[in-house]
Amino acid sequence: MIITDTGVPEEYIDRDEWGSEVMLRLDDGWCAAVDRDTLMCTIYENRPWICREFEMASYECEEERKEQGIDK
Ligand code: SF4
Repeated sequence: MIITDTGVPEEYIDRDEWGSEVMLRLDDGWCAAVDRDTLMCTIYENRPWICREFEMASYECEEERKEQGIDK
């Protein structure tokens, strides 16, 4: 969810069923801003606040990666 203006480009913004701005997901369910080859964020400097709070290699991050079968 995009709750503050960090400059996310319009083409990556969608609206949820309640009308709130969220990151657009592509057919694979992943955020449209993920580079599918490198798994890096292509809008890193403008990523939403929640993405800044989700700490890399944190317990939550590691658990999510395990659930998604990501091992790189
Ligand atoms: S950090 Fe991840 S979820 Fe957040 S905008 Fe970038 S690619 Fe999308």
